[in-house]
Amino acid sequence: MTRCTRRALIRGAALGPLAATAADRLSQPAAERYFPGHGSYGHHTTSYELRLAYDPAAGVLEGRALIRAVAARPLREVELDLARLTVRGARVDGIGVRARTRRSKLLLPTPHPFAAGAPFTLDIAYGGRPGPVRSPFGAIGWDRTGDAHGGTLVAAQPLGAPSWFPCNDRPDDKAEFVFRITVPRGHHALANGTLAEHRADGATECWTYHHSGPMAPYLAALYTGRFAHDTWRARDSATGRTVTGRDAYPAHLSHHARHDLARQPAMIEAFTGWFGPYPFETYGAVVVDADLDEPVENQTLPVFGRNHIDGGRTWETLVAHELAHQWFGNSVSLRDWRDIWLNEGFATYCEWLWSEHIGEDPADAIARREWAALHSRPQNLRLGDPGRDRIFDDRVYTRGACTLHALRLTMGDERFLTLLRSWHHAHRGRSADTRAFVAHAARHAPHTTGPLLHAWLYDEPLPPLPPPSPPPGVGRT
Ligand SMILES: [Zn+2]
Repeated sequence: MTRCTRRALIRGAALGPLAATAADRLSQPAAERYFPGHGSYGHHTTSYELRLAYDPAAGVLEGRALIRAVAARPLREVELDLARLTVRGARVDGIGVRARTRRSKLLLPTPHPFAAGAPFTLDIAYGGRPGPVRSPFGAIGWDRTGDAHGGTLVAAQPLGAPSWFPCNDRPDDKAEFVFRITVPRGHHALANGTLAEHRADGATECWTYHHSGPMAPYLAALYTGRFAHDTWRARDSATGRTVTGRDAYPAHLSHHARHDLARQPAMIEAFTGWFGPYPFETYGAVVVDADLDEPVENQTLPVFGRNHIDGGRTWETLVAHELAHQWFGNSVSLRDWRDIWLNEGFATYCEWLWSEHIGEDPADAIARREWAALHSRPQNLRLGDPGRDRIFDDRVYTRGACTLHALRLTMGDERFLTLLRSWHHAHRGRSADTRAFVAHAARHAPHTTGPLLHAWLYDEPLPPLPPPSPPPGVGRT
């Protein structure tokens, strides 16, 4: 079935373990992080404003990142992630500083010591030829589509955001974003959030987007090239308000894309009924003129490859999957990558709910099929802490979805949906971890969920699925 995320176009060589910096070793939380050298616990980001100019003919990006942040502890140096690109100049609180780089780290000295809680600003001019960065999961981040218009895309999960802007690349460092992108006349630029302004000026066009988010850096996206568009509206069942959508795709795929994406409004209507209000201001799918290994759930603006569009809705489960991530993965994001089942198990289960809702296979039938497949595989996966190199293991997706199905069968449909809705409501716009989910479930069903979740999340052998409940039905509520 699914498997969203992780690689764009180029399959890269695997890397060895990523080294931790001294600062990170001092400041990282008690639990060992999966990517200790990545991101910084020295500060929290409040906002990014990215002023970018991209020349598709040369493949050159020139940028300026205006960042607002708050020191999380006393600081003499601000640490950011940035790969492959060159810093032209940097200011901290308006004062020019000499930036240092170390591998994919950008280090900026503070003009004076910052106390914990002190707000500060960064202004970083940078540029170069962006491209994918190597990661344990292949090459990820900024990439070129290879089409005739010099199109580009971003598919950064989990470590690729530094391929196009300096950031604190942690899944739990979420911020507001503004994008101002200049491209040659006749080219489009698409980014997360809503289009605030579009100006054509001589030989260039400038596109400005605003996304209040908050959004983790790895979910930020920019697509450039030439696109046809389709706008649509969906009813939010939870609030009654209208969600506006705008899909983009290569003109030659218009017919197939319109058909394959056409049920997104119906998905939003169903998902808002099950999970609560749609969490962001807008939504839209982008299809790029390139084959992608997997779609990616970039916030408000997921990306699909042309290979995911065939005019027959063959990949509609992936359309449902990426939409579901807007609640589970994007609005409620991860505290750490060890909690990945909270993203992928949930989005996979939403595919099964959608299948049931439209009268195809019920979730119970899919769960029992997937359970049998899991049972024939090695029993060596701890879902709640799968290990760094297994965060995108297929079994995380299907065992995670089976875990939710086991909860549903144990709790009943109504209490199960209340659990999902209240989970999103409690953590909307923030990050959460597996321990918080277990505690949340225990509040809804104190005597049944603890042992059940422990077995599914922390024991390696696959637990049995509970027997099916008589009336099928979440999908039809
Ligand atoms: Zn996914």
